[in-house]
Amino acid sequence: MASSYSLVLLPGDGIGPEVVATATDLLDALSQASGVTFRTVTERAGGDAIDHDGTPLSDRALAACKDADAVLLGAVGGAAWDHHTGPMRPESGLLQLRKELGVFANLRPVAVPDALAAASPLREEAVRGTDLLVVRELTGGIYFGEPRGREGVGDAEVAWNTMRYSRAEVARLARVAFTRARRRRGKVTSVDKANVLVVSQLWRDVVREVHEAEFSDIALEHMYVDNAAMQLVLNPRQFDVIVTGNLFGDILSDAAATLGGSLGLLPSASVGGPVGLFEPVHGSAPDLAGKDAANPIAALLSAGMMLDELGEPRLGEAVRHGVEAALQAGLRTGDLWREGLTRVGTQALATRIRGEAVAWLSR
Ligand code: NAD
Repeated sequence: MASSYSLVLLPGDGIGPEVVATATDLLDALSQASGVTFRTVTERAGGDAIDHDGTPLSDRALAACKDADAVLLGAVGGAAWDHHTGPMRPESGLLQLRKELGVFANLRPVAVPDALAAASPLREEAVRGTDLLVVRELTGGIYFGEPRGREGVGDAEVAWNTMRYSRAEVARLARVAFTRARRRRGKVTSVDKANVLVVSQLWRDVVREVHEAEFSDIALEHMYVDNAAMQLVLNPRQFDVIVTGNLFGDILSDAAATLGGSLGLLPSASVGGPVGLFEPVHGSAPDLAGKDAANPIAALLSAGMMLDELGEPRLGEAVRHGVEAALQAGLRTGDLWREGLTRVGTQALATRIRGEAVAWLSR
């Protein structure tokens, strides 16, 4: 019998609802073609939730997420909520959700299909064929480390954060990275700053130990974060899986995100707990909201990653084929359009991708 999955949709703010709607249309079409069913519940998140529930993530929404098989999020935030501080900021609901779901590993694939190599801000020959995965630690490191604080006045005022990792936190992330590399091209680059930071020395020791004990079939290299930033721009094709901490991963994955030419292309998955969280890398792009102008590909590929993680890799593959076929056919939203290509809106691109995905699945 075909499987059935329960999903929570968190459309959020700005372009979030538009791109999540394209993903649910795609899931409906794949469901009809495959017999796999999805039971969806929609909850508020971010600014939308602040306006209606008085909090960026209500207890009800959180409980629904914890109860689901997976969560698909659009994006949160916007100028209307910029004056909020602390736990009332739209993104603090997102941080809380990641923490509560225990999703300690953030997976960000960056692939530059041939059809898009010319759109990259880097030289076409340098990026063509790039296919890498950043595995970023998501629930620890300097963003969460204690002590943190700010005190004093005038020239004596000081502020501090703490980059702190335990052996267990590094080991579990390293296992995610090595396991993913085994399904890809078998190489892991661990990025740290072990020449300066003690926390990076522990990081490096633990990654090395996990490698020797459990993954000696995988090629492992260590790279300092400053060099990694340079290498990502000079020669991104050298990377397969990059594993790194929260702060370095935040910066490097955004740098890697530019390779394909638009934020609107990039999906992500946050895994490691019982329920995965899937979301485009981009934010709520208020400049595009309501204009049928957002690129839906990041959200659609996030749904594809969700299907992979749910154990439906053929459906995930169908999504990727759909995206590739639509790009190959020359369809582009405004972020990637140039002379000679066909400029379309969010809906038209999503409809074409959906059609191509279903056709691939039914062939
Ligand atoms: P952004 O990602 O929303 O937009 C950056 C640029 O990329 C803009 O020019 C935008 O038009 C473009 N862009 C983004 N997504 C696109 C898409 N799908 N198609 C085409 N172009 C796209 O980042 P920002 O402008 O720094 O932030 C806007 C709001 O989003 C802020 O409130 C910020 O806090 C929030 N934000 C949320 C998340 C999240 O929910 N995970 C992430 C980043 C930013």
